Amino acid sequence: MTSDPDCIFCKIIAGDIPSFKVYEDDKTLAFMDINPGNPGHVLVVPKAHSPNIFEVPLDDMAVAMVTVQKVARAVRATLDPFGLNIVQANGPGAAQSVQHVHWHVLPRAEGDKLKLNWGLVPGDMDAIGALAEQLRAAV
Ligand code: 5GP
Ligand code: ZN
Repeated sequence: MTSDPDCIFCKIIAGDIPSFKVYEDDKTLAFMDINPGNPGHVLVVPKAHSPNIFEVPLDDMAVAMVTVQKVARAVRATLDPFGLNIVQANGPGAAQSVQHVHWHVLPRAEGDKLKLNWGLVPGDMDAIGALAEQLRAAV
């Protein structure tokens, strides 16, 4: 399995650094974030090292999503949060701080001040349609 000796999450996966594990199977691991945005903040990773969403192999992506759903359901059953975000960052502009692809399972509390949401401001339909066309061609 791909591993990067300098990657903190690879070290957690290998058991070289301790973590509070929530779920583990052959290909994925879920563990508590030690800087939680809210109580119950869990990280889900594929065990194989990939730096980001652009490079993660489809199989790792698929199994990670299954684990994300399992963990999200467990968080809901345990904490009954006000809401729950799944967050995944790529690159410094998105504030990715660990270069091993991961999904945040982040329960929300009413009135919390987490800056994840943007207001619903209607967009320019011509611009939206033009970008959709460009993206369709790129997929
Ligand atoms: P990112 O900023 O890349 O989206 O998220 C990285 C996350 O990893 C952060 O929320 C941070 O708190 C968490 N993190 C960084 N180092 C460690 C660690 O050693 N153990 C655990 N459990 N989480 C970590
Ligand atoms: Zn890694």
